[in-house]
Amino acid sequence: MSAPVPSGTRHPMVLDTDTAADDCFAMLACLLHPAADLKAVTVVAGNVNFEQQLENALITIEQSGRGGEVPVYPGCRESLMRGWTSAENVHGDGKGGHSWPKPSQRPEREHAVQALLRLADEHAQELDLVCIGPLTNVAAALILDRELPQKVRELYVMGGSNNFRGNITPAAEYNFYADPEAARAVVHAGFNLTIVDWGLTLRQAVFSDAELERIAELGTSLSHFFGIVNAPTLEFDRTAGIPGSTHPDLLTALTLLEPSLVRRTSRYFVDVETSGEMTLGYSVFDWGVLGREPNASVVEEIDREGFVGTVMRLLGDERTGGASRERLGI
Ligand code: CA
Repeated sequence: MSAPVPSGTRHPMVLDTDTAADDCFAMLACLLHPAADLKAVTVVAGNVNFEQQLENALITIEQSGRGGEVPVYPGCRESLMRGWTSAENVHGDGKGGHSWPKPSQRPEREHAVQALLRLADEHAQELDLVCIGPLTNVAAALILDRELPQKVRELYVMGGSNNFRGNITPAAEYNFYADPEAARAVVHAGFNLTIVDWGLTLRQAVFSDAELERIAELGTSLSHFFGIVNAPTLEFDRTAGIPGSTHPDLLTALTLLEPSLVRRTSRYFVDVETSGEMTLGYSVFDWGVLGREPNASVVEEIDREGFVGTVMRLLGDERTGGASRERLGI
């Protein structure tokens, strides 16, 4: 769990994302939350077509009222060894199938991995990194700079499933499955690592129909954006028997930005299967059986009401940009 942020302190941070649906909402949190100082968005191969992910990131920044303020860097366009694993069956185009106005902001020329290494040097021991897609960009950065874990203050990862089912296969959660070699490299690299997993998501980060209705009733431009972008995921989740829409990425971002939302974490030795016949990408969350030194803090319980309340406040603000961050007063 992150150390509490002193009042008035903002996190210099990078959001590494395979931008579709819930990634967009996590990005909104990093753009608008008063504790966040988002320096960059780095995009990694994942959920949907790579160019679409870049566009989804730019649309989200534009919709937040901060167009042109936060650079978007294109990162690795496929996994280290296994090409690209689509999740378009879950997320559609990741922007709700809607024709949003084309943002005037364009992606940067600098590669995401270079930008990440540069920002880690510029904000050594201060930069927080939130990863809500496959871990390819971070693994590539580690190949170039083995000291990266010492330069990053906190690494928050959405990935794996803590002694629970997977989602893309019975055994594996999507982010770890899509690049298991990268996930394995990152969990063993020595970061100050916190993990939000798929099991916690299904227990505590599903928005019910009643909560989604409350978000719609906010009537703001951001609640409108949320409703449209969330619709395909909600429809897919219903077919999977989940009573609402799932928000693992949004939860991961907010557990960093509001440590008071975290009620319980435990230390685990985490590892990732890279050779299983039916268990590729399976995440081992060992509570001590293997006798290995823990390498991650795993969030096990959150203040769910507080989580939903923060999301309502973020989406409920009619104004955007800097004014919004002040008015939220979280
Ligand atoms: Ca994601």
